[in-house]
Amino acid sequence: MSYNNLRLQEFDGLGKKKAEALSGIGVSTPKDVLLNFPSRYLSRTSSVSIAEIISILTEREETLFSNDFDIDNFNLKIQSEYSLSGRIIKKEMKRISRLKELLVIYISDGSGKSLKINFWNYAKFYMKKYQLGMRISASGRANLDKYGLSFTHPDIEILLDDKNEPVSGDEILPVYPGNEVLSKAGISQKILRSLAKKILSNSVVNFAETLPTQILVNHNFPSINKAISHLHFPQDKESLAKARERMKFEEIFYYQLQVQSRRKKSQQDYSSLRINPKSKKAREIYDNLPFSLTKDQKKVLREIAADFESGKCMNRLLQGDVGSGKTITALLTMLMAIDSGLQTLLIAPTEILAYQHFENFSQILADLDINICLLVGKMKKSERNKLLIKIQSGEYHIVIGTHATIQKDLQYNNLGFVVIDEQHRFGVSQRAELLRLASQSISKNTDEANNKIMPHCLVMSATPIPRTLEMTVYGDLDASLIKTMPKGRKDIITKISYDSQLGEVLDFVKKEINKGRQAFFVYPAVDSKKSAEMKSASQWYEKISNHFPELSCGLLHGKLKADEKEFLMEKFKQGKYDILIATTVVEVGIDIPNASIMLIENAERFGLSQLHQLRGRIGRGPHQSYCILMTKDDFQYMVKKKTMDQEDRLIAVTRLKTMESTLDGFKIAEIDLLLRGPGDLLGTKQSGLPSFTFINLVEDLEIIQSSKKWAVNIVAQDPNFLLKENLVIRKKIDKLNANEQSYFNIA
Ligand code: ADP
Ligand code: MG
Repeated sequence: MSYNNLRLQEFDGLGKKKAEALSGIGVSTPKDVLLNFPSRYLSRTSSVSIAEIISILTEREETLFSNDFDIDNFNLKIQSEYSLSGRIIKKEMKRISRLKELLVIYISDGSGKSLKINFWNYAKFYMKKYQLGMRISASGRANLDKYGLSFTHPDIEILLDDKNEPVSGDEILPVYPGNEVLSKAGISQKILRSLAKKILSNSVVNFAETLPTQILVNHNFPSINKAISHLHFPQDKESLAKARERMKFEEIFYYQLQVQSRRKKSQQDYSSLRINPKSKKAREIYDNLPFSLTKDQKKVLREIAADFESGKCMNRLLQGDVGSGKTITALLTMLMAIDSGLQTLLIAPTEILAYQHFENFSQILADLDINICLLVGKMKKSERNKLLIKIQSGEYHIVIGTHATIQKDLQYNNLGFVVIDEQHRFGVSQRAELLRLASQSISKNTDEANNKIMPHCLVMSATPIPRTLEMTVYGDLDASLIKTMPKGRKDIITKISYDSQLGEVLDFVKKEINKGRQAFFVYPAVDSKKSAEMKSASQWYEKISNHFPELSCGLLHGKLKADEKEFLMEKFKQGKYDILIATTVVEVGIDIPNASIMLIENAERFGLSQLHQLRGRIGRGPHQSYCILMTKDDFQYMVKKKTMDQEDRLIAVTRLKTMESTLDGFKIAEIDLLLRGPGDLLGTKQSGLPSFTFINLVEDLEIIQSSKKWAVNIVAQDPNFLLKENLVIRKKIDKLNANEQSYFNIA
């Protein structure tokens, strides 16, 4: 008899109230119980002692602040969870306010140090629950401050009560995701555990295998049933690790399979345009460049040329750090498309950037018979209408613009190649809409009206994308990379300076300006209304202007109108200002070779990728450039003072130290990902990723790589999963396609 669809109430005789609370989190059948995976584990024996944790955290902080800090040997996993066990040796009730009490429990594990657990809520309740002498296991995020090591609201399990009676026999205890409703209905971890245990030991649920045998064998993965059983009640750490690895693999493998099959299908549904890479115009520009292309630029040209020639639709991501020379590379390929009779488009996220591309292209292409136009939002209607007519007639070979190029009323003419600059600033849907407009404009020009044609698409990014994300979020794109920088650039020197050193820093800036250089000063706020803690551009514009009456300063921020911003940037570019005082609006793509100083105030408030982008504004010319990260004096004395929250402090300092120790954008992006987690980095909504249960997009590179390899091979050999060995894949893919909810909806 199958128990698969039995209701929990019938199986276990759970009360109605409990059963209802469980069904509220989607747990109604024995099967659901097993698919409600533990979110973490507690161990009876701690693998690390309290004294050891304190020394790990102290050492990490001292390393961070020491002079021989080395980013390659630094443990970046700052947000670390620890699990340990010990006896309750002391309890303290502290009054915080008239209404609020704080309970502090002290745990000792015999290592000579104690751990405090803070209960900010329900202090009275916990006071009764936890008795002196009990042995408990606690797991949570550790914070070390001047009062010692503490956990706040960790997961706690009572192992031995105050009479030394064991409460549970398992070595590793699962901790299930809980919520208010569950605890109100009286569903404790104990009940969840015994429910799962009963179901597993009676073998009432049987899952059909979801991975092909060859993968199971090749990776030495446990079967689905064994893996699920081990996830709830692991025999040891190894079996738990192996079970988790299998689940991670499965999750990301099926995601990759879907991406690969979608890609295959769109290649079948759409035809694409052949572009002859042997282009006279491209050759002419290439031969007359004032510099020779780097090895990587040439490699990317070859990769794109191969796509064009192959007749398949190009969908390529071009990554290269700021200043690596993506633009000229893109332009040369656009010329190939133009010589093959196509219109081309380059879209950028801001007007300043679009304008810069327009000027740059106009200059490079001056001697060629090529028409370029600039289409941005701020144009007059009559002016815009004139442009649209010429775009539609095909008079323009190159359209450069902002979001204004994605309007519904726009009709392109045989727009066969679209280039997106700073692609992370555009949403998935904007890219899709642009490609739709382009596709429309091509199909109109072909005889077979029904034959849909996809344009070629190159997306460029100066925000390096870590490998794990490249293979998942951007899994449908081929990737090209420019890693080497053009010759003759000097490495930027980066230095952390403290507020009290501002005088010296300004003297240094003055010296550089006297040599003929220019400087950016960047502030986190426009004016000082928002926060007194942040320095603001407006306020410091006054101060700096007064400090340097002989220099000329400009003030640039996001509250200015687009044309005012452009005007200011243009003046700075022409050398009319010595110092441009600004907010982060100077962030993207602007090229001012004479600017050699980037001074960032309150640098601890900026994200890593933002700092990296800002630094990329300098070092574009032949001069030695400097990036100065100004921050609070506090940080200097951190190790001793330990005032702010340890994690915030460590993260802020790690960001600055990272900037000081490396110029490598990829490394910076990886570290950023580690410090922030993937959701934040991507803007989860825009990324279009499903929410995964097991896979960690920051850490699981190897699993992602190997799952992608399997997925690509399987889709290439058997795109519809018709082979006998792929039957399990077909079954699960059908289910996933039918409801896109979860990778573990194994009904
Ligand atoms: P990004 O990749 O950040 O978009 P750009 O394409 O704007 O970089 O290039 C930055 C600057 O480097 C431009 O002024 C460009 O003309 C110049 N450049 C590009 N390629 C080379 C090269 N191979 N050698 C020297 N300078 C180059
Ligand atoms: Mg650029």
